[in-house]
Amino acid sequence: MTEFSHLVAIVTGGASGIGAAVVRRLHEGGARVAILDVNVAKVPRHTFGFETDVSNDESVRAAVMAVVEKFGRLDIVINNAGIGAQGDVAGNDDDEWHRVWDINVVGMARVSRAALPYLRVSPAAAIVNLSSVVATAGVPQRVLYTATKGAVLAMTRAMAADHLREGIRVNAVNPGTADTPWIDSLLAKTDDPVAERAALEARQPHGRLVSPDEIAHAVAYLASPQSGSTTGTSIAVDGGMQDLRLRPE
Ligand code: NAD
Repeated sequence: MTEFSHLVAIVTGGASGIGAAVVRRLHEGGARVAILDVNVAKVPRHTFGFETDVSNDESVRAAVMAVVEKFGRLDIVINNAGIGAQGDVAGNDDDEWHRVWDINVVGMARVSRAALPYLRVSPAAAIVNLSSVVATAGVPQRVLYTATKGAVLAMTRAMAADHLREGIRVNAVNPGTADTPWIDSLLAKTDDPVAERAALEARQPHGRLVSPDEIAHAVAYLASPQSGSTTGTSIAVDGGMQDLRLRPE
């Protein structure tokens, strides 16, 4: 028996970066894992990939149904799919505000809503939402993205309150800047990717980017049946970015 034996997990956005690390970690722990992603062409063979757009309710409901049809149950939902947005408060038009909000916030509500009937009958139900350090610390040129991640954090607590008595725990993880394809593509668009990467590393007190596996470890802790008394909270995995103030070396 391992930690997640007999349990079935959905990981949205599980085809890349943090989501892929979470998929590996849950699989190692014995879970059967479904990846709901817009791109499932290269998901590992031991997973169930289902092409899903979290901004489309029909697509989400079909995916959750397919997971339950395949495995007969659903215990864990990792709401990880998300996209970035750059700029100050005037940096994005209404269409972009709605597009990013629809994926990053409403997407998590859609997946959770579709999963609830199955989570209610699970003996070990858990939802983990991916927020970000930007939900608790102001960083420049990220207003729209920050608004969505703040909403995720607030929504996590409200969901935890609503579903506590149904036996469903809801928590969040707030990563700092992590070493994923997302950050690689952001860096590639800058004039000096090396200097930009160094600046991102220096922003985190431990002096480097967070690894996806470190974030997956926190996600697995919150998703684990062994964390039965942990709900409505968040774990920062940010190298101290939120809370520490070090003197310059
Ligand atoms: P990533 O771009 O490497 O992976 C995101 C995955 O989500 C991709 O596989 C993509 O295909 C999928 N996806 C995008 N839109 C989707 C949609 N509409 N429906 C279904 N799937 C969709 O990103 P990542 O860096 O691994 O980030 C994952 C999560 O972690 C995001 O919610 C992000 O906001 C959060 N996060 C990332 C960082 C970071 O520095 N990378 C920091 C804090 C929080």
